[in-house]
Amino acid sequence: MNKHLEDFFEFLRFPSVSTASEHAGDVRACGEWLENKLNTIGLEAELHETLGHPVLVAKNQHKEGKLNLLIYGHYDVQPVDPVELWDTPPFEPVLKDGRIWGRGSTDNKGQLMAHVLGIQEYIEKNGELPVNLTFLFEGEEEIGSKHLVPFLETHKDMLPCDIIAVSDTGMVSRGTPTLGYGLRGICCCEVKVTGPSGDLHSGVFGGAVANPATAVAQMIASLHKLDGTIAVEGFYDDVAPLEQWEREMWASIPGAADQDVLDTTGSPEVFGEPGYSSSERLWARPTAEVNGMAGGYQGEGSKTVLPAEAMAKFSFRLVPDQKPEDILEKVKAHFEKHTPVGVKVEIEIGHSGKPYYSDPNSEYGKAAQRALEKAFGAEPVMIREGGSIPIIQDMKEILGADSLMLGLALPDCQIHAPNENFYLENFEGGIKMSQLLLDELAALK
Ligand SMILES: [Zn+2]
Repeated sequence: MNKHLEDFFEFLRFPSVSTASEHAGDVRACGEWLENKLNTIGLEAELHETLGHPVLVAKNQHKEGKLNLLIYGHYDVQPVDPVELWDTPPFEPVLKDGRIWGRGSTDNKGQLMAHVLGIQEYIEKNGELPVNLTFLFEGEEEIGSKHLVPFLETHKDMLPCDIIAVSDTGMVSRGTPTLGYGLRGICCCEVKVTGPSGDLHSGVFGGAVANPATAVAQMIASLHKLDGTIAVEGFYDDVAPLEQWEREMWASIPGAADQDVLDTTGSPEVFGEPGYSSSERLWARPTAEVNGMAGGYQGEGSKTVLPAEAMAKFSFRLVPDQKPEDILEKVKAHFEKHTPVGVKVEIEIGHSGKPYYSDPNSEYGKAAQRALEKAFGAEPVMIREGGSIPIIQDMKEILGADSLMLGLALPDCQIHAPNENFYLENFEGGIKMSQLLLDELAALK
């Protein structure tokens, strides 16, 4: 374990912040370090250039008749700001209180490293792997995997896979191994409302022309009924209903009960679509959220102005089988219908990603459940996630394989935030799980 931690700490010391151009060299150096590490353990690794940060592909020697396993991860990290809130420097990892502290320790260097070291141990013990393994590690996950999709399309042939394993999600609580099998999709838009050609005196003109700020507020309010149901016509048309086993399993899962949501968020009361629990609302029901709104005077004291324009930003989390383009069409039609008299509306479409779902009780899902159970000594729970990882659906469409989401992050791992940390027990459990997964998957062939 000491040698493993040395490797892990070296990996963590690279400030591979993909969004910051001044760190482009560090991202590359981190990718090169990983390439070298993978070559050292007996794989054939190569960094591939893209228009952005490089993609790393590594393989053992593939043999006919073996199962093709692809393991995806990312070696880039989020920025560290606000850096003054860190208890220890973000790129000087330390082991303290049973956790490894540092940027990327959980997301995603620690989870990625657990697989790398698992593979290393397996090769050391057995000489070779029981599957055809391909590691696919990118350096742009935190900035939207922009160049990975074209890379997948042009390099399909070198990325054979029957099944994909991804450890970039969460475990619901300590000691509860978790298999993720669904993700929400997303689509975004921005609404700009204009009225008069310039800001007006609210006494001289107020009452005679429409106020864009009022109009945007009315449009925001039109999205939901008072009980929390989304009021956009046809919004729920393609929503696949929850299955009974999911509702039963989720009802007893620690971490996503109403009280957990209250504890984590500090909200005074849970709220959402009637007839669903918090976990169901988070993992299997779609949302419409206003992410920002602006218009009129925001400074100190009052200013009697009738603003010339106002805006709001929206995002919609989608579930199977909703499609982003279809939802955006319906939202557009909704806003057009609910545009108040006397203003003009412009709608700008933002980014989107499809929802993802795969059967957790498929033969691959069952194999993953067995590996999780043996590695962590407890029966795994199966969940979907509220967040979106569009690349998982992209890999399904381009490479033709489902992903097993074997999350090792815990709710207090502080990913993307100051004091990011990774539990040593999950690092060790992950190294074991990765090896058990190889055997379980190989046995299917
Ligand atoms: Zn992340």
